Amino acid sequence: MTAAVPHPVPSRVAVVGGGLAGLRTLAELRGQGFSGQLTWVGAEPTPAYDRPPLSKELLSRVEPLWLAEDLDHNHAALADAVHLGRTATGLRRVGSELVVSTDAGELVADAVVAATGSVPVRPWPDAVALHDAADAEHLRAQVRPGRHVVIIGAGWIGAEVAGVAAGAGLRVTVLEAGSAPLWRQLGDVAGERTREWYATAGVELRTDVVVTDVTGGEVRLDDGSTVTGDVVLSAVGVRPATAWLDSAVPLLASGHVATSRSGRTDTAGIWAVGDVALRSTLHFGPVPGGHWFAALRDPALAAADMLGHPLPLTEAAPEVFSDQLGHHLEVIGRLVRDDEPGAQRVLRRAEHGWTELHVSGQALVGAVVVDLPREVAAVRKLLRGESLPRLDLTLAADPATPLRAATL
Ligand SMILES: Cc1cc2nc3c(=O)[nH]c(=O)nc-3n(C[C@H](O)[C@H](O)[C@H](O)COP(=O)(O)OP(=O)(O)OC[C@H]3O[C@@H](n4cnc5c(N)ncnc54)[C@H](O)[C@@H]3O)c2cc1C
Repeated sequence: MTAAVPHPVPSRVAVVGGGLAGLRTLAELRGQGFSGQLTWVGAEPTPAYDRPPLSKELLSRVEPLWLAEDLDHNHAALADAVHLGRTATGLRRVGSELVVSTDAGELVADAVVAATGSVPVRPWPDAVALHDAADAEHLRAQVRPGRHVVIIGAGWIGAEVAGVAAGAGLRVTVLEAGSAPLWRQLGDVAGERTREWYATAGVELRTDVVVTDVTGGEVRLDDGSTVTGDVVLSAVGVRPATAWLDSAVPLLASGHVATSRSGRTDTAGIWAVGDVALRSTLHFGPVPGGHWFAALRDPALAAADMLGHPLPLTEAAPEVFSDQLGHHLEVIGRLVRDDEPGAQRVLRRAEHGWTELHVSGQALVGAVVVDLPREVAAVRKLLRGESLPRLDLTLAADPATPLRAATL
């Protein structure tokens, strides 16, 4: 990313993407004093709703959780023009203006905020996915007691749906290509600690199995065997929905848009927030979106930057949460890699949960916290200062010592 340079405050802003990050951008722009013309475009025909309940409350919540109500953001009052059910197909600069092409004509603005989220990776058309309200409705209709659901991928969504389906009396098989659940998200060691949750919930978890094909309900594995279910759910990850930006903004191989701390891209007048962005953070390097908290918080920084306000000196650490198989899990900050020099993981095992602290040198850089809400609060507080805290690692390993007391 190039260094941020001053820019004129725009008078017309188009926010593209009708989800959490898009709605939060409308609210932050107005909340921070933007009085110009604000246009909102979203591909889904419905107003913004919350995605996390789609998996966690798949069976208990039949109506989406509308964000307008949950966050008290009235998009009709915030935006001058709202175009739901309209898809952006391209973006280009024409003189001093930015032109957004959509499937129903063009929109002109001085600044554009890309908030188009992500799309599920779908290697097998016969398997269903769970990404939006329509997917949830479709899956809900198929999840009935006595049926067998086969879930490909023991990541966040696979684990969450497995728990819900098993709790509703379905037979559940989870197929995971890695050697542990959540290995991509947490690493093998912490991921392995969640294996027992599957057995306790009555879910069959098979690791080190690679799916090669899905035909109808038949899932073929790389050893030639098959697993047959009534429903097959593919939960193998997402990719940023950024194809429409291709000619206007450089995209990374992952599909993300690299941004400054405030969501500013390398192209003048274009910001990116939420799942689409790989945002530079104060202490944790570039962090990809893909998590609810980024979509909630990024827009405040983008709006401040766009309107020429100073950015805060501190910011909350990146955070992902999940409710799965009867457990609450939080990942806060940055998790160290196995091959990272000077990196260590320190386990604090309490009676009802555990915390794995991630340490680089002696600095706390992140943590995985399971079923310990007080510890979540403590880690959040420690990681949002102007610098990262240093720990006495012997004290930090003792779960009876409050984390704060283990800092140097
Ligand atoms: C089932 C599920 C459970 C989840 N659970 C958790 C969780 O427990 N914890 C957590 O941290 N995160 C969770 N997430 C992720 C979290 O919901 C997302 O990170 C968050 O919704 C991202 O918000 P966003 O606004 O960037 O993108 P989205 O919510 O994806 O919204 C983007 C919107 O833009 C629209 N759009 C896409 N392309 C275009 C286009 N070309 N033109 C116009 N509009 C377009 C899309 O249709 C969509 O409505 C979950 C996600 C899912 C799907």
